[in-house]
Amino acid sequence: MASFTLHGIPVSRGIAIGRAHLLAPAALDVKHYLIPQEQVEAEVLRLQKAIATVHKELQTIWNELPKDSPAELGAFIDVHALILSDPMIAEVPLDIIRTRYYNAEWALVTQIDELSAQFDEIEDAYLRERKSDIQQVGERVLKVLTGSAISLPSHDGDDENAGRMIVVAHDISPADMLQFKDRAFGGFVTDLGGQNSHTAIVARSLDIPAAVGMSNASALIEQDDMIIIDGDAGVVIVDPPPNVLEQYRDLQQRLMRERKKLGKLKKTPAVTKDGTDITLLANIELPDDCSGALDLGAMGVGLFRSEFLFMGRAGFVNKLPSEDEQFESYRKAVVAMKGRPVTIRTLDIGADKPLDSAEQTALNPALGLRAIRFCLAEPQMFLQQLRAILRASAYGPVKLLIPMLAHAFEIDQSLAMIEQAKAQLREQNKKFDPLVPVGAMIEIPAAALTLPMFVKRMDFLSVGTNDLIQYTLAIDRADHEVAHLYNPLHPAVLYLLASTISIGAKAGVPVSVCGEMAGDTRMTRLLLGMGLREFSMHPTQILPVKQEILNADLGAIAAQTKKILRTMEPAAIVQAVEQLREL
Ligand code: PEP
Ligand code: MG
Repeated sequence: MASFTLHGIPVSRGIAIGRAHLLAPAALDVKHYLIPQEQVEAEVLRLQKAIATVHKELQTIWNELPKDSPAELGAFIDVHALILSDPMIAEVPLDIIRTRYYNAEWALVTQIDELSAQFDEIEDAYLRERKSDIQQVGERVLKVLTGSAISLPSHDGDDENAGRMIVVAHDISPADMLQFKDRAFGGFVTDLGGQNSHTAIVARSLDIPAAVGMSNASALIEQDDMIIIDGDAGVVIVDPPPNVLEQYRDLQQRLMRERKKLGKLKKTPAVTKDGTDITLLANIELPDDCSGALDLGAMGVGLFRSEFLFMGRAGFVNKLPSEDEQFESYRKAVVAMKGRPVTIRTLDIGADKPLDSAEQTALNPALGLRAIRFCLAEPQMFLQQLRAILRASAYGPVKLLIPMLAHAFEIDQSLAMIEQAKAQLREQNKKFDPLVPVGAMIEIPAAALTLPMFVKRMDFLSVGTNDLIQYTLAIDRADHEVAHLYNPLHPAVLYLLASTISIGAKAGVPVSVCGEMAGDTRMTRLLLGMGLREFSMHPTQILPVKQEILNADLGAIAAQTKKILRTMEPAAIVQAVEQLREL
């Protein structure tokens, strides 16, 4: 069979290589027939017994949960048990058998379809995804009714395929996933699922490469097909040619060796060879990301992209998360970070992060009503978010970060609104830290070129290199047609970055970098050489960047960086940056 590649949503990092083990396709496709009246009660009993069997199964799985299982698993199984006991599942299908004479499977599926349709109407993305829990519970009962249990390949521990089985399914329930936990398997591929799906959550907590939302992977992939999951990219390569397989095997081996080595650095302070302390912070999208970040040694959160709490809620401002809901999320992150600072960025919506993907966006969204521009145009929504963030500051150190600022009046208006939010909280007798530091994202060239305007007004700055590159080079960061022009080492980008860091340092205003450049180990020394002392990145990058720092000698690096900043020739810059890593 020819090799092909499928694209989905990357939810869990790493590379898995192995043979596909297909789980039985969605069992909801069942036989439909009518039951003679005299057999109706027997059919009711058949369904009741199947439900009771599944109850027992869930109980057994729960009792046998390994001690080191992620906390979520127990909770997910509880949710399934609750769904199973709910009259909507435990009783309504019995009524359907009695009144419509449907066979047990048909009655159950009818009710599950009905409930699923109701879930489709729900606007909250997280709750909507819970539809799959109901379907998974239904499938479990159907499997008992039809006698088709989940089939696991048998192997003993010495099997050379141990650890190389890749589970491919339309969807996987957390309970089913547990059955794989003790068996050697390398990764998951599912048709359904998103960032919030249980498969994704569990895969992340088990630290297993996974790609979800692959649409029809389970139909295209065949049993025992050779598969590569590139969990970082959300890509699945089916039947790879030998050279690709070899490349990925090498990469996988290298990643595994590096990971093992890096794991030892979790508690090591990030100090350069010459004794300069460097602060390594985490970029997070949801409060639940905090525990993983802490585990990897993050000294705080340098960027909490709050827009992820707002996205995917169809409709407009009145459908957004309430102040209390936001407050709970921010508080959760602050508490989870145990006294380390949490930098919460106000809503950065628009461009490639639309509030509602179905919504019509502007002609040129990256240059449109994005981030702070949007917030200043929606003052009630902005005030609500500011109050929620400020209230979280009563529970630990919080910093407030404003994205996409370019004009002095935007800074002044933002600061005035923060004061207004504080006044409102005082009126309501709500606690907050009155001295919450306020910072600006430097991500528009105009901001970087007028830094004195910022250092005068702001407590700290954070450079968003992703947007700074996009706006400096006039390339849409989401457009693959111009992806080859996206160059962090363009001299214009380096100039803006270096001048921001040095003007900030001279003014005594701390500057961090929170764009992807901060987590790119090829850039670590260059940024150190520019004088950067605070890096914020995806948590998984913290240890690799720390390793670069531990081996860096600032004196030598600073001299070479000065030379790089005077260079205008791209090839020479690339070469000199590579040489920096050899110093
Ligand atoms: C950036 O622009 O570099 C940044 C960190 O913000 P985002 O990627 O969320 O726009
Ligand atoms: Mg940005």
